[in-house]
Amino acid sequence: MTYDTNNIFAKILRGEIPCQKVYEDSHVLAFNDIVPKAPVHILVLPKGAYTDMDDFTRRASAEEIAALFRALGQIARDKGLDQPGYRTIVNCGSDGGQEVPHLHLHLLGGRRLGRMVEKAA
Ligand code: 5GP
Repeated sequence: MTYDTNNIFAKILRGEIPCQKVYEDSHVLAFNDIVPKAPVHILVLPKGAYTDMDDFTRRASAEEIAALFRALGQIARDKGLDQPGYRTIVNCGSDGGQEVPHLHLHLLGGRRLGRMVEKAA
């Protein structure tokens, strides 16, 4: 899939659309999800133009990959989620239910999150 430079997260990264920023460094931007599914629901994005997890794990540098995961862990600790815990979800492609075609990690916490998926089909 080619990267759509007009996707909503590309516009947020360019500052064309506002967001509630939680964290930023040279490789990563994180902000609150506009429709939170838990008391804490933060989206953690690489700044590079990657469509999804498949694209990112093919093309991203080791530095970009490390930065994304380091940032997620740091944000979780900053939000006090390391205890009692949290969930990270990455939707990839149509079966994964991905809606926005710029890779993002969901960081969810602040309550018991229940089952991971509904049930096996
Ligand atoms: P996906 O289904 O692609 O994994 O998740 C996309 C997420 O982006 C959804 O949880 C949705 O609520 C969130 N989202 C969509 N548009 C916006 C927006 O304009 N701003 C913010 N902060 N979140 C958005």
